[in-house]
Amino acid sequence: MKWFDYQAPRTLGEAVEAMTLHPTARALAGGTDLLVQMRAGRRTPDLIVDIKKIPELNQLHYEPGMGLTLGAAVPCYRIYNDTTVSRAYPSLAEVANIIGGTQIQGRASIGGNLCNAAPSADAIPLLIALGATCRILGPGGERTLPVDQFCVAPGQNVLATGELLVSIQIPQSPASSAARYLRFIPRNEMDIAVAGAGVYVVMENGHIQSAKIALSSVAPTPLPVDASTLAGQPADEATVHKAGELAAAAAKPITDMRGTADYRRHLCAVLTRRALASAIAAAKESK
Ligand SMILES: Cc1cc2nc3c(=O)[nH]c(=O)nc-3n(C[C@H](O)[C@H](O)[C@H](O)COP(=O)(O)OP(=O)(O)OC[C@H]3O[C@@H](n4cnc5c(N)ncnc54)[C@H](O)[C@@H]3O)c2cc1C
Repeated sequence: MKWFDYQAPRTLGEAVEAMTLHPTARALAGGTDLLVQMRAGRRTPDLIVDIKKIPELNQLHYEPGMGLTLGAAVPCYRIYNDTTVSRAYPSLAEVANIIGGTQIQGRASIGGNLCNAAPSADAIPLLIALGATCRILGPGGERTLPVDQFCVAPGQNVLATGELLVSIQIPQSPASSAARYLRFIPRNEMDIAVAGAGVYVVMENGHIQSAKIALSSVAPTPLPVDASTLAGQPADEATVHKAGELAAAAAKPITDMRGTADYRRHLCAVLTRRALASAIAAAKESK
């Protein structure tokens, strides 16, 4: 591994300054992507900025009516072990619980999953479906951006030199709503998704008031699907089938060693149908 410097700032200002002065610097959250990439020579930063000692990046705060502030460095285990958060956002707790195994979840963050911008990242389709936004801080000040605009290419995000993802804001879910992320992996765990589907649905009088769908592993970036035609439809089998067709039509998969493009398109339909049916059932129960 190439030689590098290490800093562990205690404030956001110090972290942004360090990242600005060293254009090749990389933030270190859990390191479960970064260290693997550095060992393989795919990333060669001259400085590692450990962001785990900065309070804002460790915030995990749910405010009823306002939503969730998820600090970018909060490890997965803190999400599913927090009963308030996992009651308010069960789908987020579920996704935190499928990223790697227990050891990975002790380090890996949802912020790191997002910043790493892998097409197969499991958390990103769910964040898109939940309407999450990114709070970004850099030398030019602060900005916010919807998660669906954050990833620009495989392994690349919108962050400019010196910028850090501070937190992810997830809006309050209304009554009669639910979200779900499902992926297909050849093994039961610790595998990269061949395809994945995140869905979010708000129900009203047995009909879909609004729905969102996003996919993983079937495009260069996690892929939002236009699901606006589902609004107003009855929450029945035909509508669920239609959602699967929308997902399959939107997918732009490639053929690789994990699956053919056709197989992935088929998976998009199946996973979206199952995720939506499950979210509809949960939304009917949710107060
Ligand atoms: C054995 C194993 C199993 C895995 N299983 C899964 C899986 O099932 N599903 C899945 O989606 N992923 C999986 N991963 C990949 C990885 O664990 C996740 O992507 C994880 O969420 C990354 O989080 P992290 O905190 O470790 O990120 P890090 O490795 O610390 O960071 C990832 C990238 O984002 C940048 N970064 C991190 N935080 C910030 C920030 N706040 N601001 C700016 N840039 C930042 C870093 O510089 C780096 O480039 C697995 C990895 C391993 C090693």
